[in-house]
Amino acid sequence: MCLFCKLVNGEIPSNKVLEDDNFIAFHDINPIAPVHILIIPKVHVEKFQDVKPAMMAEMTIFIQEVAQKMGLDASGYRLVTNNGEDGGQEVPHLHFHLLGGGRLKWTHLHHDNPKESM
Ligand code: 5GP
Ligand code: ZN
Repeated sequence: MCLFCKLVNGEIPSNKVLEDDNFIAFHDINPIAPVHILIIPKVHVEKFQDVKPAMMAEMTIFIQEVAQKMGLDASGYRLVTNNGEDGGQEVPHLHFHLLGGGRLKWTHLHHDNPKESM
């Protein structure tokens, strides 16, 4: 079973910020911004490329609620999903990174040598 399915089951603990019947938002274990929340569906969907539009419609509302709860809705934030190998996805369960809490950098992301990114 995948890491985030274990987290949904409660086999792995998480620091949750919001939960409903279909989605969970929790703090990233290794934050890269003052606020770094991960948002996942409870059902296993591997990546954004596989998600059904109806689920994304529901997830959009949930993500907006999380941003509001974290106090980022007015100040702004970044929403990222790493999709597949070249996208740098490490956990194969769809998740959005909600990043904020200060002005974020926007920088060149490409590595000629993929090992450099590890
Ligand atoms: P990805 O690289 O797949 O887009 O992002 C995976 C994210 O999951 C990383 O930011 C990483 O810090 C986070 N992560 C990995 N394992 C755990 C865990 O057990 N708990 C939490 N809260 N975050 C995790
Ligand atoms: Zn999963």
